[in-house]
Amino acid sequence: MSQMEIIRPTDMGLAHDDVARFISGSALVALSDRSALEMARRTLLAELTEGRFGELALNDDLLEATREQFFRFAAAEVAPHAEEWHGNDELIPLALVHKLADMGVFGMTVPEEFGGLGLGKLAMCIVSEALSRGYLGVGSLGTRSEIAAELIRIGGTDAQKEKFLHKIATGEILPTAVFTEPDTGSDLGSLRTRAMRDGDIYRVFGAKTWITHGSRSDLMTLLVRTSSTADGYRGLSMLLAPKPRGTESNPFPVKGLSGTEIPVLGYRGMKEYEISFDGFEVPVTNLLGGVEGQGFKQLMETFESARIQTAARALGVAQNALELGLRYAQERAQFGKPIVDFPRVHAKLALMATETMMARQLSYFAARQKDAGRRCDIEAGMAKLLAARVAFANADCALQIHGGNGYALEYPISRILCDSRILSIFEGAAEIQAQVIARGLLSRGN
Ligand SMILES: Cc1cc2nc3c(=O)[nH]c(=O)nc-3n(C[C@H](O)[C@H](O)[C@H](O)COP(=O)(O)OP(=O)(O)OC[C@H]3O[C@@H](n4cnc5c(N)ncnc54)[C@H](O)[C@@H]3O)c2cc1C
Repeated sequence: MSQMEIIRPTDMGLAHDDVARFISGSALVALSDRSALEMARRTLLAELTEGRFGELALNDDLLEATREQFFRFAAAEVAPHAEEWHGNDELIPLALVHKLADMGVFGMTVPEEFGGLGLGKLAMCIVSEALSRGYLGVGSLGTRSEIAAELIRIGGTDAQKEKFLHKIATGEILPTAVFTEPDTGSDLGSLRTRAMRDGDIYRVFGAKTWITHGSRSDLMTLLVRTSSTADGYRGLSMLLAPKPRGTESNPFPVKGLSGTEIPVLGYRGMKEYEISFDGFEVPVTNLLGGVEGQGFKQLMETFESARIQTAARALGVAQNALELGLRYAQERAQFGKPIVDFPRVHAKLALMATETMMARQLSYFAARQKDAGRRCDIEAGMAKLLAARVAFANADCALQIHGGNGYALEYPISRILCDSRILSIFEGAAEIQAQVIARGLLSRGN
């Protein structure tokens, strides 16, 4: 799960002799042949230096064209500004948000009847990866739209679908996901923010934290406790809570809502906030699905998509780090030759490229399963867990390849290290993903 968590054969009760017998098997010996391994690394490196990072096997002209379009867009309009947005800790300009809206980013998987492109999760994956390769903040702009649209598409009433989906798909409504609380992160079933019914409105009281894009957003998907008797998950409901967009000087210009920004290491461009609710009003008609107590179940139904999307964002970051590390290794010379010629340097690059492709194909597989209407909680969890780890490992290795320069703010890899670190924390921390995967595998019996 991370460089720190390793299971050794002895931890599983295997004796030294059992392991020795396994290692002497011919297939493993062939795979660990040192000269063959070095030849494989050098062959792979030759491919990488030609800009070939492996066959994606999309086998679909529309997907190929979409990838190309967003790849070029991110290279021209996102990557050149990433350092500035991060360094100045700025919101990503609205002009760019509008361009992405025109390209359909916010309605990628929303059905066409509600104004979206009606594409699948694989398309979403490809777009998120391409944009995140330019800048994680931009690749993440669509995340909350994807979550809100999925919540409403699956759990909303017809009237809620009519009211919100079209505007989310076109980017007119920018949603924000409001789940985490100061004392409640992974264990959402314990959350305490309360919505009390008063005629045809709910009044919300409590505190939320880590709310990304909290100020410059129009609609909160707000997880609250509506029951004073049902504890745990059963008492939770999801509200679709409209709010006005804030400004820098007044981030939450509405009665009953206040908040302050949380300065962060990376993943900038949307800003994170702590938010307090003090009687904030939400119409009862905005209870998702119209029935109380369904909130956690409704949220769980979006987990597969959200994890696939986060895996895709991680792939973009991983690829970016790989390419930066490769370029630096080719350009930097020590001891009279480019550092890429040193086995310890190109071995890193070969492993980065390999792990990125493993994570990519796992993510695409999860997306294809989802698009085929098959359950993919385990695969989506695996994709998110692995891709997040690979993104951070790639950033770490690429920074190492940069030597001292990697530690300078001037070099983008220092920012990418900070950006990559969040991916194992949000959208289900790595430890929680590992549990979901283990429990799922045990319950499936394979
Ligand atoms: C930059 C950023 C943006 C975010 N954006 C949003 C957002 O827009 N909306 C939103 O609602 N939330 C958001 N979050 C919150 C995020 O989802 C939570 O941080 C995450 O769910 C983890 O919760 P926590 O921070 O409370 O950690 P905790 O739940 O307190 O966990 C702390 C550590 O303990 C581990 N742990 C917890 N339980 C177990 C267990 N059972 N077994 C093993 N290990 C365990 C965790 O994996 C973690 O390593 C954001 C967070 C960050 C940092």
